[in-house]
Amino acid sequence: DPTAARRPTESIHVESPNLTYTDDALLSRYTFHSTAVDKQADAQGHVKYSVRPVERELEFKTGRKVPKTGLMLVGLGGNNGTTLTATILANRHNISWGTRDGIQTPNYLGSLVRASTMRLGVDAQGEDVFVPISDVLPMVHPNDLTVGGWDISSMSLDKAARRAKVLEYDLQRQLEPYLKEYTPLPSIYYPTFINANQEERADNVIPGSDKQAHLDQVRADIRNFKRDNDLDQVIVLWTANTERYSLLVDGVNDTADNLLESIRTSHAEVSPSTIFAVAAILEGVPYVNGAPQNTFVPGAIELAERHKAFVAGDDFKSGQTKVKSVLAEYLVNAGIKPLLIASYNHLGNNDGKNLSAPEQFRSKEISKASVVDDMVEANSLLYKPLAVKEADSKDGFVKGHSTEHPDHCVVIKYLPNCGDDKKAIDDYTSEIGMGGRNTLAIYNTCQDSLLATPLIIDLCLLAELMTRVTYREEGSADYEPMYSVLGLLSYMLKAPLTKPGKKPINSLNRQRQALEAFLRACLALQPVSDLVTFTQME
Ligand code: NAD
Repeated sequence: DPTAARRPTESIHVESPNLTYTDDALLSRYTFHSTAVDKQADAQGHVKYSVRPVERELEFKTGRKVPKTGLMLVGLGGNNGTTLTATILANRHNISWGTRDGIQTPNYLGSLVRASTMRLGVDAQGEDVFVPISDVLPMVHPNDLTVGGWDISSMSLDKAARRAKVLEYDLQRQLEPYLKEYTPLPSIYYPTFINANQEERADNVIPGSDKQAHLDQVRADIRNFKRDNDLDQVIVLWTANTERYSLLVDGVNDTADNLLESIRTSHAEVSPSTIFAVAAILEGVPYVNGAPQNTFVPGAIELAERHKAFVAGDDFKSGQTKVKSVLAEYLVNAGIKPLLIASYNHLGNNDGKNLSAPEQFRSKEISKASVVDDMVEANSLLYKPLAVKEADSKDGFVKGHSTEHPDHCVVIKYLPNCGDDKKAIDDYTSEIGMGGRNTLAIYNTCQDSLLATPLIIDLCLLAELMTRVTYREEGSADYEPMYSVLGLLSYMLKAPLTKPGKKPINSLNRQRQALEAFLRACLALQPVSDLVTFTQME
């Protein structure tokens, strides 16, 4: 078995009275420290902060047995779907290929789990010790994932990979015998949700217009895939075309019951992606949305909460947005005030072709829009609160913001000859000291699908891990699953889905720290701190 040697082993052993190892679980006792703040203004308008450290005793239980896991992609035959499948096959079978630069070996670069490390602690000499994130807790190895899924295009994956024009010819050639074994299942196609220019691909659709029958078919597909491949767990992930936004209509998709009823009556506003999400929720398997549309209408979130099922979204954060969230945070935290951020993209793949219609572009524009909001709101020295009237009266850029906000626009153009290369050009113009100006111009070119594929792997591996972690307040009887909306996956997602009423955190640094803190908490370890590192208080 070529994968046996790469299966996860537990290379970390924690010696602590707070961590108990049983045959099938890690039992952690963890004190969570936080800071409660009460903010009050006196009669003169001076703000006073009353601060109180708070401790909360938690217990985490992490399953040690890594399940045999399947990954079902909606959009299996697309650029991401074929690139993901090819990446896993090339790694699993250790296939190298010739390029004009020489021999290239397969890898998982770009995956936080498989290609990055985190600081575990210090050794006896005081030197930092880093470990691969994949070694921190027992996690599925991507080589062991069973891949399958749906596409409205019937093309087998060897041909679909050629159509995608992402992989080098010599790799396509060697993978052909493996890829041709993969043929997408028929999918749900409602033409009003994606660009009309996709219609020519749609030769593999579940017949009829009965949405309940479509839901039942997708549920059966998930069950059959699990049974036929002898799987313990399945993750369903949408990497199909971006849909237009669904209208939010009271009585249609506002509650779980109304949504289920709207599927029964085949209401026009229920999108294919929402049906896939509902199918996964009802089958009790995690569902991740890698595209920007509002699959998770309020009724879908309520349904996930009701079934304690896991969902995450929206939209892979692969290129421009990742850089933007980092740069905006750097500038604002440095006391520099971004005044405008203008982002232009052109790309030539089928995703770009689909985004060339206003309704699909709008979904992308919304998902890219709010990326800097939390950084801006965090610094009231740079950005002043706006009177409500003013916030409402301005159009486009600042509408809905409660504070002053940089001008921000996103443009996407489809230029077929660009192929899968995405070119992103960004202008960040900021105010610096004494009225000065600072402009950063960023030009980012990348192969879109080669950046997105490792994110799909991370989302799948981490979603699976979350299904094995339960927690309780110390002293309470039962362990509970994590909350349905997996906010800890925000690092990979452009517009992180949150619990209704909660604001997303877009800071990439905080997203990563949260993930590290969570992994450590499962091992009864506090987050690493640099208090001693920088002060030399040894
Ligand atoms: P793609 O067009 O190559 O692939 C999408 C596939 O989905 C196609 O094969 C299409 O036939 C299929 N499809 C469309 N509707 C379907 C349905 N209802 N059911 C099943 N299959 C369906 O696009 P891609 O480059 O692979 O990107 C996929 C998605 O990921 C897009 O929505 C894109 O916006 C999103 N995304 C991609 C990136 C990235 O690649 N860097 C980043 C963020 C988001």
